[in-house]
Amino acid sequence: MIDGEKIERAVALLLEGIGEDASREGLAETPSRIARMYEEIFAGIGKTPEEYLEKTFSAEGSGMVIEKDIVFYSTCEHHLLPFYGKAHIAYLPDGKVVGLSKLARAVEVYARRPQLQERLTVQIADALMEYLQPKGVIVMVEAEHMCMTMRGVKKPGTQTMTLVSRGVFAEEKSLQEEFFRMMGL
Ligand code: ZN
Repeated sequence: MIDGEKIERAVALLLEGIGEDASREGLAETPSRIARMYEEIFAGIGKTPEEYLEKTFSAEGSGMVIEKDIVFYSTCEHHLLPFYGKAHIAYLPDGKVVGLSKLARAVEVYARRPQLQERLTVQIADALMEYLQPKGVIVMVEAEHMCMTMRGVKKPGTQTMTLVSRGVFAEEKSLQEEFFRMMGL
């Protein structure tokens, strides 16, 4: 549960800490603005994608399902700066499929919390395995991390790629290759 009052106090303190005058006009409303914003961008804390993935449809004999270019915005837990990009999900159903928009919803649940790209990728894959019980899942995430591009090494446009495969996608190289081919890689 987001505690807006605590966030407001913390942001005011943070502004003081960097040597700012937290009471000047442009900053006076910033603590409450950030508290409201955090309600949205951290709305996934403590949630699971169950409400989106529990309703499945039967689709016997269905081939690979791919949902490409799911845009997401998340927050790096090491710097509290954004990282954002696209998730690509494929699964081989074992009789059950889920509404396509629900995959994007599931990504959002895991993106809206202090996060690591590696964990985000694992959590999406494991949630699909748990709720859909498919023959296999593969998840690829590509993202730009503001903590890399606006500070430190400063390499704008650098994409970090992560890949997690489960079930038949982990066991059969040909399926992975089919996924990469359909991704245009
Ligand atoms: Zn970071």
